Amino acid sequence: MEHIYKRVILKISGEALSGGEGRGIDEKVIFEIANVIKQVNNLGIEVAIVVGGGNFWRGISAKEMDRTTSDYMGMLGTVINGLALQDHLERIDVETRVQTAIEMRQVAEPYIRRRAIRHLEKGRVVIFAGGSGNPYFSTDTTAALRAAEINADVILLAKKGIDGVYSDDPNTNKNATRYDDLKYIDVLNKGLKVMDSTATSLCMDNNIPIIVFGIEQPENITKIINGHKIGTIIKEG
Ligand code: UDP
Repeated sequence: MEHIYKRVILKISGEALSGGEGRGIDEKVIFEIANVIKQVNNLGIEVAIVVGGGNFWRGISAKEMDRTTSDYMGMLGTVINGLALQDHLERIDVETRVQTAIEMRQVAEPYIRRRAIRHLEKGRVVIFAGGSGNPYFSTDTTAALRAAEINADVILLAKKGIDGVYSDDPNTNKNATRYDDLKYIDVLNKGLKVMDSTATSLCMDNNIPIIVFGIEQPENITKIINGHKIGTIIKEG
């Protein structure tokens, strides 16, 4: 079967790996996600994952701390998540490599674009941790950056607690409607809270489609790969 996407970036927020309170790691949740990633990998789709770290720390939440230090703490949080994902994937026999944007050679490879592509070509799942390595950025921006760098066909933006992009917050506004598709410029102009504007602009400039979907049903990932319309797609018209 021909799949529309051959190489994908899966962005998993830290919250998506957490338990009920959005903090820490829920091994059961990671195990479920790992199983779906295995299915996608078995279809011959190249999967690179960008992990968030908001279940441990978000740089912006610091009240007194220096922002840059606080952001580095956030980046380190993403490495914890990356290792947890790697462990669960390898336990179900999925070959993986973690690459970090901040060097820590005892735990993972440093990010090397050409090597990452080689791993993907060999069928390994590559986990990008450490964000972009730069403060003042987010892991959404990292997903956009890595997608451009490795020529990914799409970014699959896994969300917890919501199944797509809405006109307003559906938790507070009952009249909020879900979009099936959107243009990048509409996301920016309407100020829709999908990803930060830096990430959206980067996708717009490089024409990388984004599919926003709910991770509560991890099998949504396989459905998207199999051509089902799930969540909201953001692209250029
Ligand atoms: N971060 C950063 N630069 C990056 C990526 C992440 O400084 O390129 C820091 C930032 O402080 C951020 C934290 O790491 O708040 C965790 O990432 P993010 O908030 O994107 O995680 P998510 O919301 O996806 O769980």
